[in-house]
Amino acid sequence: MKNHDYDLFVIGAGSGGVRAARMAAGFGARVAVAEDRYLGGTCVNVGCVPKKLYVYAAEFGKSFKDSRNFGWEGGTPVFDWATLRDHKKAEIARLNTIYGNLLSGAKAELIDGRARLVDAHTVAVGEARYTAEKILIATGGWPHIPKFPGSELAISSNEVFDLAQFPKRLAIVGGGYIAVEFAGIFNGLGAKVSQLYRGPLFLRGFDDDLRAHAAQEIAKSGVDLRFDVNVQAIVKTATGLQVLLTDHTTLEVDAVLYATGRKANLEGLGLENVRVTISEAGTIDVDADFRTSEPSIFALGDVTGGIELTPVALAEAMSFARRQFGGVESAVDYDFIPTAVFCQPNIGTVGFTEDQARARFGPLRLFKSTFKPMKHTISGRDERTFMKLVVDRASDRVVGAHMMGPDAGEIMQGIAIALRAGATKALFDSTIGIHPTAAEEFVTMREVWRED
Ligand SMILES: Cc1cc2nc3c(=O)[nH]c(=O)nc-3n(C[C@H](O)[C@H](O)[C@H](O)COP(=O)(O)OP(=O)(O)OC[C@H]3O[C@@H](n4cnc5c(N)ncnc54)[C@H](O)[C@@H]3O)c2cc1C
Repeated sequence: MKNHDYDLFVIGAGSGGVRAARMAAGFGARVAVAEDRYLGGTCVNVGCVPKKLYVYAAEFGKSFKDSRNFGWEGGTPVFDWATLRDHKKAEIARLNTIYGNLLSGAKAELIDGRARLVDAHTVAVGEARYTAEKILIATGGWPHIPKFPGSELAISSNEVFDLAQFPKRLAIVGGGYIAVEFAGIFNGLGAKVSQLYRGPLFLRGFDDDLRAHAAQEIAKSGVDLRFDVNVQAIVKTATGLQVLLTDHTTLEVDAVLYATGRKANLEGLGLENVRVTISEAGTIDVDADFRTSEPSIFALGDVTGGIELTPVALAEAMSFARRQFGGVESAVDYDFIPTAVFCQPNIGTVGFTEDQARARFGPLRLFKSTFKPMKHTISGRDERTFMKLVVDRASDRVVGAHMMGPDAGEIMQGIAIALRAGATKALFDSTIGIHPTAAEEFVTMREVWRED
């Protein structure tokens, strides 16, 4: 091992790379990490963190209105984009420093620059060459905007956080969670938002009842939702951008945000110099140990095209470091990964959708609850919460929980533990609720809504 400069060379200091580097160094490995853009990667700089900060900003708008019937008086405050953007920038800069300190504290060496594979044990950063026993590719993903007339006028999630001017009229293209979240953010901040999706209903992969409820609530909240439509062209005009749609209508907007997908970040990585194989989807193929087809090279996180979430990249990094440097077997358990969509109200979900559960387990019992949140009985806001439990009839095990309502993400984390523990519906029913909360509804859904 000591013949190489390092035991581990990590390419990319994002969620997965930083965690793998720190843990491997903690096991005594000599570690270097190359990063060419920003410490903390997508999540910290142009993903989860700035997104959630903007979600908080967006939710104030409606809360000011909600407060009136609770006795709060006064004019509605005015939103200033530059204030939000610049406070966000300062917070991200603080986090970048923390990530740098985490690496130096762990005695992992940070190398500033874009890394390129030279051979199975050598990485180049600029003119410098480094050798390592093992190399980890954790280069994440990058937004992909398809080519069409005027596509160069569209922006991606990378740019939207730092726009010089607030886009008062915004078209968002895409139906995944990122598109849905940005629609909620800019709608909440006061923009006129149109969300365009080429399929019949957005949030593919989520439970169908939840998707239908989300479409209804998001439309009520003011987003102009348009399904079965796509963009043909974008044309610059004197007053903004004209978006020509496949249904022969047009939209006049200030910006067009494309959130239609991300691709593995492999550009200039030097993969042609090693035997790493790439899948049809353009992601790096790995085995259960995160090993590529080149035995000394590993990959994890978004670049492998698995479940593209920060906690998954972190879990993979910990598993990798434990196994390769700690001598501990620790496979990642991908079952029952909870997730949230920070739209308004939030979505939280864990486990199987109804359709997936039926295919996997057979006959089901389904429980559903929809209600107006207690707060809005007074605020007057027209918003309804949705909750659904999917239960395997044979075992009584709860195999899916889906919610759209305030704090759904927070609530679902605890439900995820119960589902992973194999909780039955009887156990949910015998659990005493916390009153008055929305969450207690999960333990008081007595009536079967539908069953097979
Ligand atoms: C808008 C948005 C919102 C999101 N919201 C959430 C959320 O709420 N919750 C959640 O769990 N996940 C969220 N995600 C997903 C999450 O950000 C990713 O799953 C996570 O960051 C993946 O981590 P990673 O380590 O694989 O890659 P990344 O975090 O992307 O890190 C890769 C790093 O590698 C660097 N790099 C790339 N190539 C090279 C090279 N050749 N040399 C040197 N450095 C290189 C990059 O600059 C980057 O810093 C969001 C993503 C986006 C885009």
